[in-house]
Amino acid sequence: MTARAPKQKRGRVFLVGAGPGASDLITIRGADVLSRADVVIYDNLVSPELIRLAPPKAELIYAGKRGGSQKTIEQSELNAMLIAHARKGRVVVRLKGGDPFIFGRGGEEAEALARARVEFEVVPGVTSAIAGPAFAGIPLTHREHGSFVAFVTGHEDESKGASSTVPWDELVAAARRAGTIVILMATARMRATLERIRAAGLPAKTPAVAVQWATTAVQRTVSATLATLAEESAREGIGAPAVIVVGELAGLRENLKWVERTPLFGRTIVVTRARTAASEFATALRRLGAEVVEFPTIETAPPRSYAALDRAIARVNTFDWIIFTSAMGVESFIERLKSHGHDIRELGHASLAAIGPATASRLADHALKVTAVPDEYRAEQIIPAIGIKRISGKRFLIPRAEVAREALPQILRDKGAKEVVVAPAYRTVKPKGVQIERMRELLASGAIDLVTFTSSSTVTNFCELIDVPAKGLKAAAIGPITAATAQQNGFEVVVRPRRYTIEALTEAIHEFYAAEEQN
Ligand code: SAH
Repeated sequence: MTARAPKQKRGRVFLVGAGPGASDLITIRGADVLSRADVVIYDNLVSPELIRLAPPKAELIYAGKRGGSQKTIEQSELNAMLIAHARKGRVVVRLKGGDPFIFGRGGEEAEALARARVEFEVVPGVTSAIAGPAFAGIPLTHREHGSFVAFVTGHEDESKGASSTVPWDELVAAARRAGTIVILMATARMRATLERIRAAGLPAKTPAVAVQWATTAVQRTVSATLATLAEESAREGIGAPAVIVVGELAGLRENLKWVERTPLFGRTIVVTRARTAASEFATALRRLGAEVVEFPTIETAPPRSYAALDRAIARVNTFDWIIFTSAMGVESFIERLKSHGHDIRELGHASLAAIGPATASRLADHALKVTAVPDEYRAEQIIPAIGIKRISGKRFLIPRAEVAREALPQILRDKGAKEVVVAPAYRTVKPKGVQIERMRELLASGAIDLVTFTSSSTVTNFCELIDVPAKGLKAAAIGPITAATAQQNGFEVVVRPRRYTIEALTEAIHEFYAAEEQN
């Protein structure tokens, strides 16, 4: 046998539908492929949140295309790029808005790949042609009133001359009976398109609806008729991207519109938590219909020195209690324990206390059961939870953030603890690369309804980062200490949950706006 050069890994292109806008409307397969990408080539209509699913080392290429205004990559150049990257043995994800094979030239890209004999796969997506009507409350077919639906372009390729390739007369003749027409790329020539449909014989009073930025937090919908939609849309400033739905079923929206009825519809809420911790909270708010602006003000980093923690871990079996004051404290403590080759059973001697349910649940993830969780989630309240009689003569370890309030260790000492070791396990820092200018603009324009704070440091970092007075800005604060810090910094604290958890904070925000709605 002769030695062979190692075979080069074969590259592959995935034409992936990103969905219509909301980042969680991509398919599971699409998200999986994206998480394995070496190169991601994405369009203008793809949610920035989705790009974050790509591995950090993936090369990200913006292919542009927005009404022709920006400089964009030519289609031929784009095809060549897909082929070249695949031939280098890479996993190439061509991420396209909606579904890759509904308009948007996915077909042409696939043809180019086939010609070049590059292997490719197609991952379908939720097209805006379906999601737009769905989010406007319009069923596209209906047993009684709609037996077919047509997706048509409202933007004929100019290079093909004046005559349209859409068979409007035949289409309208069919739709008059029981059909729905969905028009994409509809805004630039909206008036002409709707007039053409009327000329072909659809009654002027037929319901017609335009949906812009469907499924995103800035979705806007205009309901009118075939005769009035162009004018109404112009008055409302509806521009691209929008889909138009024409047909009797568009009239069902009046009864079935649901997006506008979600509790936080039309509210813009800032989430200042660390990015790693924020997504659950942001998702919960989005589910309630809010537009969420993620503006992380803290990030965790290793402590400046692990010396104290390492010394404590080396003699961890000598402590009677280990008190955790944050989920991050749990995580960094256990990581350090592991990385030094220790065994979780060494904690066996100590009882565990957690400041609140999130911290307790992080311990439970490691099959560690807590003995004490206070009813009110602040550090001082751990004392009664442990039991005042169980403090004297005992040894305590508190692995926590490098900078934290002194209250807890001091009280433990006052109550006769034999030893209290505070061991920095992590440090919170201001993150780099947050979009400060964008946040200042949003604040200045009055676009922000509420800023949420989950700790005092999120308040102080927010203020330091934006560096403009917060005067009169409404805030939601997770607990009393955070609320006090927010007030000192000029915020009007309008939301204070009874329990100091993210769940309760979300619920309190919901209640606040529900009450406001009633007034
Ligand atoms: N492949 C895409 C369509 C690409 S053509 C899909 O399947 O959705 C671009 C057109 O799609 C836009 O002009 C607009 O008509 C429509 N579109 C895309 N995203 C949209 C959105 N979030 N809301 C409304 N229309 C959208």
